[in-house]
Amino acid sequence: MTVDSTISSPLGPPACEKDAKALHFIENMTRNTDSVQVNVLAEILAQNADTEYLRTFHLNGATDRDTFKSKIPVVGYDELHPYIKRIADGDRSPILSSKPISEFLTSSGTSAGERKLMPTIAEEWDRRQKLYSLLMPVMNLYVPNLNKGKGLYFYFIKAETKTPSGLVARPVLTSYYKSDQFRNRPYDPYNVNTSPDEAILCPDSFQSMYSQMLCGLLMREQVLRMGAVFASGLVRAVRFLQLNWKQLAQDFATGTLYSKITDPSVRGVVSDMLKPNPELAKFITEQCSDENWEGIITRIWPNTKYLDVIVTGAMAQYIPTLDYYSNGLPKYCTMYASSECYFGLNLKPVCDPSQVSYTIMPNMGYFEFLPHDSTSSVTLSRDSPPPLLDLADLELGKEYELVISTYAGLCRYRVGDILRVTGFHNSAPQFKFIRRKNVLLSIDSDKTDEAELQSAIDNASVLLREFNTTIVEYTSYGDAKTIPGHYVIYWELLVKDSKNQPTDAALNQCCLAMEESFNSVYRQGRVADNSIGPLEIRIVKNGTFEELMDYAISRGASINQYKVPRCVSFTPILELLDSRVVSTHFSPAAPQWTPERRR
Ligand code: AMP
Repeated sequence: MTVDSTISSPLGPPACEKDAKALHFIENMTRNTDSVQVNVLAEILAQNADTEYLRTFHLNGATDRDTFKSKIPVVGYDELHPYIKRIADGDRSPILSSKPISEFLTSSGTSAGERKLMPTIAEEWDRRQKLYSLLMPVMNLYVPNLNKGKGLYFYFIKAETKTPSGLVARPVLTSYYKSDQFRNRPYDPYNVNTSPDEAILCPDSFQSMYSQMLCGLLMREQVLRMGAVFASGLVRAVRFLQLNWKQLAQDFATGTLYSKITDPSVRGVVSDMLKPNPELAKFITEQCSDENWEGIITRIWPNTKYLDVIVTGAMAQYIPTLDYYSNGLPKYCTMYASSECYFGLNLKPVCDPSQVSYTIMPNMGYFEFLPHDSTSSVTLSRDSPPPLLDLADLELGKEYELVISTYAGLCRYRVGDILRVTGFHNSAPQFKFIRRKNVLLSIDSDKTDEAELQSAIDNASVLLREFNTTIVEYTSYGDAKTIPGHYVIYWELLVKDSKNQPTDAALNQCCLAMEESFNSVYRQGRVADNSIGPLEIRIVKNGTFEELMDYAISRGASINQYKVPRCVSFTPILELLDSRVVSTHFSPAAPQWTPERRR
């Protein structure tokens, strides 16, 4: 196909006419970063001028930056919660947004143990879909001929609930996969996947994964790219294959779909694809019965050019596992997004995970940046307006906390992400994702902070009272080497009566008590998604934490300022802890979780 040269792009030669338009859009947005941002802010403020929230701050119809910055406070979820609660309870007056709130997107960030509820409006999916539509045109610049095959992507929907007034509350991707924009997407030869929509939309996670894996195996030679949203999801898919390949091979041998796939629409569409294929059954059996699963992805899907998964931020812990299973296939991170707002994309996806930078697209919302000094935590007061910077004013190498204002009514809202400017595309800064604030432990989309860990320890320690035992010190470790990964908690105990030591059963119950204390995202990962394994407590010898301190001091820590790290990942420290373990204990059952919120 020849592409109209008048719309060919400085990013590189587009693969087709449609891509040329997308690349042109990116150029246009990133060349005019500041003016696009001024317009976005004016649109948001004009659209929401009559909302209760904005009226509180007496903007009097102003839509300019200076008035906005001088009058509107920077807030976190706690400040917005009373407004969000009223919407959830049925108040349909324009509280945060003049357009009706169509549903709540449930963030993996939690407040008081429950997922945060992010308001959204119907038109938002058009804006977010636009960002999705830019991903393949960029990838096509770097990886040719993706129209000659398919993508094997593991995508899932999750449980949804209703607020007291009947508004739907669900994770953002569940909302997307159920949206018209996803289901009625136009055919794009560069973006054809092996999973039928029926399989993605199946609410039963086993049936969904089974049928997606089966289709991926059926079309294994056509698969050119493989992915999941997060790296943890792809690792879980490999584990699923490990546990279910015999049944899958039997389905191929007989041409009959496993009887446990009972969802009628999935059964219908997958059965139509399945014919007896003894050769495939034999191949799967040969590959999977081998104890050595190194390079299994490239063995089964030999034409895969790259893995499309997020391995930045907390997901970096899965890189060694993915490298093992895929013989080091390249891993490309394409997009940076959240329930609150989709932010941007990686314009040079073909790079090492350590080099990944995302370009925030200025049309997605209004973005401000709080200079981040890792040594001090900034407290913002309503009286002294914070020194927030605009997208076009950021400096190379500096770190910032992201603050957003959205069409759906979030105004100067602190997302909690820390980003570092690594470069610019035209006038748009590019960011390395540094970390999410206050996250101590994360295995999948769970985010456990120090206070949550402390309170879980407090709750578990109650069970030790009858043994006259206290927890002297503790630390934790997110173990991503097991599949699924799990939390490991190291405890040093003070047993005051050696004849009444805590029993194995009691310590197992302590594991469960900790899990019961964690937030609903953690418990959902344990119960519904099977993305987090049972919590483990490792009891270490007395004196171990003193040795830990000695080690830190020998490496230059100040004895006066030394604090026990509440999470560790440095190998020598882990080796020290593990060499002092006297017993290990696991949660004997899954904690309680239902989609319903606790409050
Ligand atoms: P949620 O609100 O549950 O959708 O989670 C959104 C959060 O996930 C973001 O605010 C980030 O902290 C994290 N996240 C999203 N995309 C990426 C990415 N590409 N790299 C690292 N972290 C990400």
